[in-house]
Amino acid sequence: MENLIQYFPGYDIRKNVRLADYTNTRVGGPADWAFWPKTIAQVKTVIEELHASDRALPITVLGNASNLIITDDGLRGLVIFLTDLAEIQVVEQTITASAGAAIIDVARVAQQNGLTGLEWAAGIPGSVGGAVYMNAGAYGGQVDSVVSTIEVLTRTGEIKSITNADLAFAYRHSAVQETGDIILSATFALELGDKAAIDAMMEDFNTRRASKQPLEFPSCGSVFKRPVGYFAGKLIMDADLQGYTIGGAQVSTKHAGFIVNRGTASATDYIQVIRHVQQVVAEKYGVTLETEVRILGEQ
Ligand SMILES: Cc1cc2nc3c(=O)[nH]c(=O)nc-3n(C[C@H](O)[C@H](O)[C@H](O)COP(=O)(O)OP(=O)(O)OC[C@H]3O[C@@H](n4cnc5c(N)ncnc54)[C@H](O)[C@@H]3O)c2cc1C
Repeated sequence: MENLIQYFPGYDIRKNVRLADYTNTRVGGPADWAFWPKTIAQVKTVIEELHASDRALPITVLGNASNLIITDDGLRGLVIFLTDLAEIQVVEQTITASAGAAIIDVARVAQQNGLTGLEWAAGIPGSVGGAVYMNAGAYGGQVDSVVSTIEVLTRTGEIKSITNADLAFAYRHSAVQETGDIILSATFALELGDKAAIDAMMEDFNTRRASKQPLEFPSCGSVFKRPVGYFAGKLIMDADLQGYTIGGAQVSTKHAGFIVNRGTASATDYIQVIRHVQQVVAEKYGVTLETEVRILGEQ
């Protein structure tokens, strides 16, 4: 499979793509190949053909790349961006959204249709696929409390439906993290509510977010998972690490759980800041900070 562009004519496949242009941190090296499917049939064809071919080609699926640090060497093989698959359909009290739809847009469509249950997602800059994969959540809401089923494409090219009960949802975890399935869409089961009240709640969450989070700088959101019995941000703040900087990556002075790109950060800067924070917090408080953000590529 030397030349994917020739092999899949008419598909939006590009060679040697700079991933920093697509990640929320604005860091990350090149992908050998990147693919923006326009239909599910295109994704299925590529996955089936590559599975059937004798060349093993690593395949990475991305949504909005808002929970990722991609290393400076980039990603080998093929990166599939699902952002062009962004359909959102409302049927009575359910919404089915394609994996590439922004979860913020799904929350807004829910509000416009007087459906409650997705207000918490109003300010999360991820895609539906990424939100399900991560079991994203905020302000007391979480994907697992509203998703009824998802549709996936397995790595061998089979399309199947998986119900909430079979997704092994836990804090920032779903079964898809183990299966490697590609999420194609998700159906959200919502309840009837009052449009104005839903809107007010979304506005409130977004105001709180803007006042606490360094949204003025590129970042990947909260870098660390909440350790049992603690808050990652508070531990980092107490350890006097706010403002700690390597190269262009800095522990945010506004929210200690965020590491922001001050303009010139590399992925290596980010990873070094993460390691330093983990080491200092472990030494001072005996608490292991696990990353919520996913680090992809060779380290
Ligand atoms: C400013 C800011 C605020 C944030 N606030 C929150 C918050 O309040 N709560 C929260 O939970 N998160 C938050 N995040 C993190 C992030 O937005 C969420 O985790 C989001 O759900 C990730 O979606 P994504 O599309 O960007 O996924 P990506 O970053 O593109 O991918 C994340 C992981 O999911 C996998 N993946 C993505 N799409 C698919 C798919 N279709 N099929 C299979 N695998 C897939 C990727 O391979 C990767 O491993 C925040 C991030 C930022 C930058």
